Order: sequence, then structure tokens, then C-alpha cells
Amino acid sequence: MKKHNYSAGPCILPQEVFDKSAQAILDFNESGLSILEISHRSKDFVAIMDEARALALELLGLEGKGYQALFLAGGASLEFLMVPYNLMKEGGKAAYLDSGTWASGAIKEAKFFGETVVVASSKDQNYNNIPKGYTVPTDADYFHCTSNNTIFGTQIKDFPSLDMPVVCDMSSDIFSRVLDFTQFDIIYAGAQKNMGPAGTTLVIVKEEILGKSGRTIPSILDYEKHIKAESMYNTPPVFPVYASLLTLQWLKNLGGIAAVEKLNNAKDALLYAEIDRNPLFKGAAAVEDRSNMNATFLLNNPEHAATFDTMWKAAGISGIPGHRSVGGYRASMYNAMPIESVQVLVDVMKELENKV
Ligand code: PLP
Repeated sequence: MKKHNYSAGPCILPQEVFDKSAQAILDFNESGLSILEISHRSKDFVAIMDEARALALELLGLEGKGYQALFLAGGASLEFLMVPYNLMKEGGKAAYLDSGTWASGAIKEAKFFGETVVVASSKDQNYNNIPKGYTVPTDADYFHCTSNNTIFGTQIKDFPSLDMPVVCDMSSDIFSRVLDFTQFDIIYAGAQKNMGPAGTTLVIVKEEILGKSGRTIPSILDYEKHIKAESMYNTPPVFPVYASLLTLQWLKNLGGIAAVEKLNNAKDALLYAEIDRNPLFKGAAAVEDRSNMNATFLLNNPEHAATFDTMWKAAGISGIPGHRSVGGYRASMYNAMPIESVQVLVDVMKELENKV
């Protein structure tokens, strides 16, 4: 039986991505070669890279607006340092919003490059909310935020409008909801949630903000070098890029971000309604900041955990134990998760209520 996969990432992907990937691993485009063994310089792979880059921009509504899409390696974690390397001036400063573990990981790396101002933090509340009402120093070289805090289940709903480059780590909610993506100058996201297998990171860069830091940047960390090489500065992660393209094509056929947002809203509404209704459970994140991708919740009485755990496992659910820093449960409902899987979880929560 195929599991209802609530894993936070790597995680569920559309079934057709598995089917087409499997075929491409066996025989790519009837070439007699596997996607795992073709040259990244082959005509077929260059076409995949070009289409993936173009489709990412198209889905985000950024084509023809001065942006470039790159598929890099090193995970979102490498972007934590590529961003300051490329944007923070010598002797300059950067502004960061500390909304979770990954945001604080980005802050740690920025500090290697210069003054790093944390404009607000919800660390004292174990990151159960998105800080609001902060001021960003006007002389910062850029502002960095994390749109969705995968571990804590919080999500930024309103982004500040600033007179400086805005950088956003969208690893866990990219392509999940309609936003005006032109408000960002750099967007980055590890593939392994809404896009593909681990191994590549989508980086969207507005070209005009580059080349201003005055730093000498090592080539492999220089966005301009990657753009010039059309995302082929070194051997790209061929298979993760191909699988990401398949997911982007799936999303386009579905009707794009607006269509998937509707499905995501229906899934969230179903699960959060049960968390709020069922007297055995409570949500972990501030209601107004709840994530549309990762719902974190707790049992009011931890003594019910053993029974609940046995029940959801028997229902074919996997991947819902919460991150150790929050405890309880985390249901990650990425784009590819069908609402039927959410219904299975809600039914188990109701059954628990009837049982204890
Ligand atoms: N940023 C966010 C919001 C994440 O959820 C994660 C991983 O889950 C990361 C960054 C780190 O990504 P990577 O493992 O690709 O470096």
C-alpha cells in the first residue's frame, strides 16, 4: 500500500514524476541511455535545463522581468552564505528576520561577512509566531526572511515593502500560494519539498542587484558566473533537475500556482478545523501565522500518544512525528499531497476522540 506521506522533506511528489523518472532512468527519450548516464552537455539535457529555468520563472510570473533562474547544488544551506557573499558590501550590513531554526542558520552564515542586524526574533516563544512591527535599517544592503518555517509551522503572510533588495528562503512553500514574486530580488528553495528530489536548489535572482558588493567572489559561489554559464558552470545535478522539471510541468498542467493554492487551502482548512474542533488536540503555532504547508499540533494529554501513534500507523500514515524542538506532530501537506490523505488523518483524529 502506498503510504500517506506527511514527511517534511524529502517528501511526497506527484505520481507522474515517479512514473516518468522511472522510465527516464531505464531509457531516456528512447536514446538507449539512462538519464543517470547522459552528458550534461548533451542536447537533450541542455533542453531540460533551459525548460526548467524558463518554466520556474513562468510559474512565478517573473519571465521577462529581469530575473534569472538557476539550478545549483549545495542545498538551501549554501545559499545562506552565497547571499551575503554576493550582496553584502565590505563594511556594509545586512538585515535578517529571525523566525526559526533555518532563519537563524542563515544569520549565522551572514555574520562571517559583516554586520548582521536581527530586526526581530520570536526565539523566546520557541518560534511559534512570525515577528511583526519591526523596523529595517534603511542602510542595510539587503533584507532576508524565511517565508515558511518548516519546523515550527509558521508562514509569513505579509512581506515588508522595502527600498533595498529583499531575499527570501522559500524552501518549504515555493509554488504553493499566489504572491507577487516581483517583491523579491532573490528567492531560493531546496528542491526537496515542492519541486523534486534532494540535490538541487532553485535560485531566482534579479540580475540588476548583482555586481555591487565590491567583493572578490570565488567562482563557484558567484551568481553572475552561474548566470553567464546558463546554470552549467559546473556539472549540474542532472537527475534532480530533470525530476524538478517534471514537477513544474505537472504544476503547469494543473493550472499553475493559483490552481494548486486552491487545493492547498482546502487541505489546510480540513486539517486545521479538526485540530481546533477536537478537544484532544491543540495547534502549536499562532493561528494568524499558520503555515499552509506544515501544520504543527500537539496532544493536550501526552498519555494519548501511544494510542494515537498506533492508530495513524495502522491507517498507512507516515512522517507525522513533530520535529524534536516542537514535539507533538507535524503534518506536511505539500503540493502533491491529495486531500484524501488529509481526510485519512482527520478520520484517525476523530476515531481517537471516540476511543479515549
Ligand atoms: N530553509 C528551510 C526553510 C528549510 O526547511 C530547510 C530544510 O528543511 C533548509 C533551509 C535547509 O535546506 P537544505 O537541507 O537544502 O540545505
